[in-house]
Parts: sequence; structure tokens; C-alpha cells
Amino acid sequence: MPRRLKPPEAGKYRIICPHCQAEFKHNISKDYTYIKCQKCKENFKVLLTTVRAKRGRDGVYYKEYIIRYVGHSGEGLIEFGDSRHQDLDVRSSDLILLAFVKEDNGKYSDTPSLLINVTINKGIQVQKPPFY
Ligand SMILES: [Zn+2]
Repeated sequence: MPRRLKPPEAGKYRIICPHCQAEFKHNISKDYTYIKCQKCKENFKVLLTTVRAKRGRDGVYYKEYIIRYVGHSGEGLIEFGDSRHQDLDVRSSDLILLAFVKEDNGKYSDTPSLLINVTINKGIQVQKPPFY
């Protein structure tokens, strides 16, 4: 029987700014939250969600990940590449926080710059591959 996964509870979560790595706490009560860093004043977007499954596929230039998650607005998935080829420490039922920054075109990237596994209290930098 698959476990019944719930979206993360609303509350204060430890955030790491993807721009300057400053740490602070922020209230999160929904899937996506727009945050202005208290230190460097840069904006970023976070997704706080519960992992259903993670898949990684090794390529030549980068590793490709698909993370399926359970959020407040239902199930979703995020796909991204990481040119650091690391093994993301993410398991089913873990709470994760993904931080996205704006690209040169002014839009938020589809690739997170930073993944924080809230459950094991670990932050991982993600490097978007060129031309991904
Ligand atoms: Zn900052």
C-alpha cells in the first residue's frame, strides 16, 4: 500500500537565500512563496513540498532529475538538470524546499538554484546546465 503523503504544514521554515546564502526563517503556508532576502534584498521564489518520488538519470553533461511531489494544490512534478552530477539526497516523504532565482530574461528559472531537504536539514546547490 502506498503511503498517504500530505503537503507540508504551514509554519516557519529555515530559508537559505540562493543569492547570498544568508539564513533566516520565513512563514510558508502554500506551495510557492515569493521572498525578499532580509540581507541582500534580492527576490527569489521558493517551493515547499512533500516528495513522492525522485528519479535521476545520468547524462554526459548533466544529470537529469524528475521529482514528483504532493503540494497544497495537488500533485506536481519538477524536472531539471544539474551539471554537478550529484546524487540528490531526497527520498519519498521528505519535505523539500526549492529556491528559484530570476534569469537574465526577468523570468524565474525552471531549475532551482538551491534544494534544501528540510527533513534531514541539508542544503544542496544545483547548477543549471548550459542550454538546458
Ligand atoms: Zn540574500
